[in-house]
Amino acid sequence: MKQIGQHAIVIGASMGGLLAARALADYYQQVTLLERDTFPARGEQRKGVPQGRHTHALLAQGRQVMEDFFPGLTRQLVEQGALLSDTLAEARRFIGGGHYCQTQTGLLGLMVSRPLLEAQIRSRVLALPNVQAIENCDVLGLTATEDRERISGVRLIRRQTGSAEEVLTADVVVDASGRGSRTPAWLESLDYAPPEEEQVRAGMGYVTRIYQRQPDHAQGAKVVMSNYSAMSFRPKGEISEADISL
Ligand SMILES: Cc1cc2nc3c(=O)[nH]c(=O)nc-3n(C[C@H](O)[C@H](O)[C@H](O)COP(=O)(O)OP(=O)(O)OC[C@H]3O[C@@H](n4cnc5c(N)ncnc54)[C@H](O)[C@@H]3O)c2cc1C
Repeated sequence: MKQIGQHAIVIGASMGGLLAARALADYYQQVTLLERDTFPARGEQRKGVPQGRHTHALLAQGRQVMEDFFPGLTRQLVEQGALLSDTLAEARRFIGGGHYCQTQTGLLGLMVSRPLLEAQIRSRVLALPNVQAIENCDVLGLTATEDRERISGVRLIRRQTGSAEEVLTADVVVDASGRGSRTPAWLESLDYAPPEEEQVRAGMGYVTRIYQRQPDHAQGAKVVMSNYSAMSFRPKGEISEADISL
């Protein structure tokens, strides 16, 4: 390990935060994840990730990055019901007014529910000897050195009766608190100029519903996608943990 610092803090222990913690663990003596929610015992939905109820698919490159970080991850997920499939060969896609060609690409993505993926990654990250997580705590803001040269840590409060505000110091703070991030406001309150923001409006809506299929539906395709929907299919009677997303 090429150590570049003593302590790194990551705000938010969802997909972004967990993967950031895994990367930082190679370079910092200690990494602390701070999460507002309680970690569910199994791969269940939680309040902080409302989009987790919608169909999620892990594309090939993302799966490969995670597999490099956590060897054997794909196999573990498949054992729990996830579907490993060639992105084009085993999917029927109708997007932008036309059907995609069904052809072998060698790009293997995973159809897996978001809570199951997160639970598996979380257990691997928290097994690292230099990573710890504090659940049930709200990060309230950042702290800075007196000369405002750098951010020195975070202010937080634990979700327990009688808790008082605490300060946790670190060499680096990573904000992985999602789209509701308060970092621009926190920086402004410390007299830093807010970072420049770029917004892309996707103009898209999402609806998710679980169907039980017959094996021959959709000519046996593992995935069917159209402009506004994506459904992962499973033969009748084989609904598993990986499908529970409603
Ligand atoms: C409908 C929908 C469908 C999607 N489908 C796909 C897909 O198929 N494939 C794919 O790869 N991506 C998909 N995405 C995108 C994916 O869900 C997000 O990119 C991903 O969840 C972002 O992860 P994150 O860790 O950055 O943030 P989030 O998942 O939003 O997590 C933020 C975390 O920070 C915590 N937090 C927030 N504020 C604080 C605080 N002050 N203190 C402590 N903790 C805090 C929250 O509790 C939460 O755990 C989809 C998104 C949506 C909305």
